[in-house]
Amino acid sequence: MEVKLSLQNKKKIEDIVEVLKNKKSFLITSHINIDGDGIGSEISLYIALKKIGKKVEIINQDRIPAIFKFLPFSEVIKTVSNEEEAKNFEVGIVIDCGNLDRAGKIKKIIKKLPFIINIDHHLTNSQFGNINWIDPSFSSTGEMIYFVCDKLGNIDKNQAVCLYTSIIYDTYCFTHHLSNYTLDVAKKLINLKINPEKIAQKIFCEKSIQSVILFKLALETLKFNKKKKVCSMKVTKEMFKRAKAKEEHTEGFVEFLISIKGVEVGVLFKEKDKGVKVSMRSKGNIDVESIAQRYNGGGHREAAGCFLENKGIEEVEAIIMKELQWMEF
Ligand code: AMP
Ligand code: MN
Ligand code: MN
Repeated sequence: MEVKLSLQNKKKIEDIVEVLKNKKSFLITSHINIDGDGIGSEISLYIALKKIGKKVEIINQDRIPAIFKFLPFSEVIKTVSNEEEAKNFEVGIVIDCGNLDRAGKIKKIIKKLPFIINIDHHLTNSQFGNINWIDPSFSSTGEMIYFVCDKLGNIDKNQAVCLYTSIIYDTYCFTHHLSNYTLDVAKKLINLKINPEKIAQKIFCEKSIQSVILFKLALETLKFNKKKKVCSMKVTKEMFKRAKAKEEHTEGFVEFLISIKGVEVGVLFKEKDKGVKVSMRSKGNIDVESIAQRYNGGGHREAAGCFLENKGIEEVEAIIMKELQWMEF
């Protein structure tokens, strides 16, 4: 089974692979609040580069959530952000970031590097790289990295575990944003003798007690609009404290909202120290990315987010709900 890419994509992959083969040292990073797509992509590219004898490091702003620690090589991922690090690398590879601010503290290091490769599947991307491979039709950056790794050499089982994780994380187990290639790529990864059921269970079926307690508290704030097409929920700082939970323990909350029959848009508000993080999900009929973009955020039609600084959670709730008011009619 041959997976056929467009000529444009093939050209981008060739350009990227040429740099990967010709340069010696690479810094790989992804976005703040690193997620399954970013981690899976980073590690599989790390393994590919190590196999051809390159110097590689993965450095992110935030620590990886506990649920991804089962991934091979997850222990190599670092969180240091000393600008001096820039001296050590020729190329920065930025994955799954619509703009460089999304790399958080790692932006400073990346900006100092002589060459940047930007690989992303978000709808909006500021094209900050020397090579920019941006294609929103891909399910995940993991799916894009699959083609890069495939071109670089044979994909091994460890890489397959990571890339499969990226794909199922970003598609929420094949429930949205499938590309023309997703199922073929998944099949190729499964053929490398990975255990797809075990990986899905590790990611979606191992909720921690903190997460469940936090979810119980958040459920008290569940709200629907009049037509029950929009559903929202809040997680306050007080709830985080009571549940002894962190941001990573909200994994799956907004997906729960969109799993309700008849609900078209689910919105989760998370109170943080400097403002409120908004996560939105849509069944596809409503474009939530366009709303996120109005507040300096981004994402995809079906999954988008933004951060409203220096505002209270009630205020942010009112602002976002006003954006969705037209759905009352
Ligand atoms: P989240 O709600 O954080 O799970 O994010 C959903 C999607 O929106 C992901 O693809 C994120 O990369 C993207 N996203 C979330 N927050 C932002 C932001 N502040 N700016 C740009 N993209 C974002
Ligand atoms: Mn992501
Ligand atoms: Mn992604």
